[in-house]
Amino acid sequence: MLNVVIFGAPGAGKGTQSDKLVERFKLNHISTGDLLRKEIAEQTELGKRIKSIMDSGSLVSDDIVIEMIDKAIANDTQGILFDGFPRNVAQAEVLDKMLEKHGRKLTCMIQLDVPQEELIRRMLERAKISGRSDDNEVTIKNRLKEYESKTLPVANYYAQQGKQIKINGLGSVDAIAQNIISEVERVSK
Ligand code: AMP
Repeated sequence: MLNVVIFGAPGAGKGTQSDKLVERFKLNHISTGDLLRKEIAEQTELGKRIKSIMDSGSLVSDDIVIEMIDKAIANDTQGILFDGFPRNVAQAEVLDKMLEKHGRKLTCMIQLDVPQEELIRRMLERAKISGRSDDNEVTIKNRLKEYESKTLPVANYYAQQGKQIKINGLGSVDAIAQNIISEVERVSK
């Protein structure tokens, strides 16, 4: 069963490429950002607690997302694409343990590389249509800062495990998707 992490800065194209991968490999798409936004939209207790944190572009606490991921793994029967998780090294370590508990292991981590100017350009573009309250100039800067200080070390964590696959995130959506699909096929053979 495939267990793939799609990794990259905000604006790198994780969501777009996730759709392609899910279609090709029939994976369960688990996006912690989507799950958290759903809590906010439904105005649950959790949603009320996390709204201001997400609006500022900071990360919510590990416990919240770890619980969501644990449930998702327990309920999954088809293989998972993790999108937006892990966001720091502590989450990456917990993910390994959770997968092991369910008799699984990570297939690979796909890292979408996109230069910073392009990330900002894409996010500002997305802000015009997404309706996401965290797609604005101030929050975008904080999200990139959070990414660099907390999330980027995760790349090294997977590099050390030999699980990191870097993909150039510039170019057409289909060409990038094809590169990712070839790599996933190669490592899952
Ligand atoms: P995303 O949709 O992945 O860009 O996530 C949007 C926001 O949700 C982030 O800026 C964080 O506030 C929160 N978030 C999503 N995933 C995580 C995670 N794994 N750990 C902590 N916060 C997260």
